[in-house]
Amino acid sequence: MNKDWLEKDFYATLGVSKDASADELKKKYRTLARENHPDKNPGDAAAEARFKDVSEAYDVLSDPAKRKEYDEARALFAGGGFPGGGFGGAGGPGGFGGGQYNVNVEDLFGDSSGGFGDFLGGLFNRGSGGRSRQPRRGQDLESELTLSFDDALDGVTVPLRLSSDAPCSVCNGTGAKAGTVPRVCPTCDGTGQTSRNAGGFAFAEPCPSCRGRGLFVDDPCTSCRGSGRGVSSRTVHARIPEGVKDGSRIRLKGKGGPGERGGPAGDLFVVVHVDDHAIFGRKGNNVTLTAPITFSEAALGSQITVPTPRGNSVTLKIPAGTSTGRVFRVRGKGVRGKDGKNGDLLVTVNVAVPQNMNDEQRDALQTYADLVAGEDPRKDLSALAGNSNG
Ligand SMILES: [Zn+2]
Ligand SMILES: [Zn+2]
Repeated sequence: MNKDWLEKDFYATLGVSKDASADELKKKYRTLARENHPDKNPGDAAAEARFKDVSEAYDVLSDPAKRKEYDEARALFAGGGFPGGGFGGAGGPGGFGGGQYNVNVEDLFGDSSGGFGDFLGGLFNRGSGGRSRQPRRGQDLESELTLSFDDALDGVTVPLRLSSDAPCSVCNGTGAKAGTVPRVCPTCDGTGQTSRNAGGFAFAEPCPSCRGRGLFVDDPCTSCRGSGRGVSSRTVHARIPEGVKDGSRIRLKGKGGPGERGGPAGDLFVVVHVDDHAIFGRKGNNVTLTAPITFSEAALGSQITVPTPRGNSVTLKIPAGTSTGRVFRVRGKGVRGKDGKNGDLLVTVNVAVPQNMNDEQRDALQTYADLVAGEDPRKDLSALAGNSNG
């Protein structure tokens, strides 16, 4: 149904009564259409407008289903069918002018152009704010996503499928089965509230029959079971900046729910998880790596080659006498931070103890051990332990 249907009196347009028969409608329509036909009235804009009005009116009234929908919708309005408060389930006064039913249809419809169903859907989801024509900002949404270590390093654009509340697409949010419309709740007369007397006071309660909606659905929509609520999903392409850290919450401005009546879209917040890498780690904007070295490389000094996060490798000079656990810094091979500066690659060397030695290797090591037999690397421990005890 078009949104402006309710503002138009199609019966008056055709000059018939509300209970006019199909034949009567057809007769009137033919007469009026012939009189105002553009071919017969060249250049007459008023006649053309009348011709369109008459055609629209007949289009609706000649279709029994449309006519029924139109009649019921008009009846709701004529009876002040949408009084304050009840629709969002929030209850309370307010809503559409607190009981004065001089409602501008345009207000109620907002920008929705889908018809009566959309209009109801809008009401149900709108809470108590139905009167407002103010632009409304879209909802903020939150989503989660897991990135590979490399994608987190370099940044990536990820398609995110977002679901949000929307009027049920089958019934357009009315909650009523296709081809039917809700009627004014007979229990509360459409107010959405009933009152209960207790100790001389009257308490307003949400109407139990319609749960405060003010409308009663005889034949519920099978898709949403009468709730009128559904889900809409869409895909948003989220640009994740380079260097994102595990656990960060990224704000994507304007990627949230769409605004209403020209309002801006909400924001999308994406919580990012970053998978561990097989060899690299992260420490802020620095990338960490543990590189095994042999005892002889540590003792005698050497040059070792290690990979960097982006595929190239670098050569590190290990000075003679390097202890296990020493950290070497490769400048600029880390993550680019928000300030545009690159972090570093931090390489921790770890002296690997040989697990399997052949006889020759063991003999050579034994020879070395004999040569250093007089040195006690733990003498400081004994000395300091003795001092603190005595
Ligand atoms: Zn009710
Ligand atoms: Zn539905």
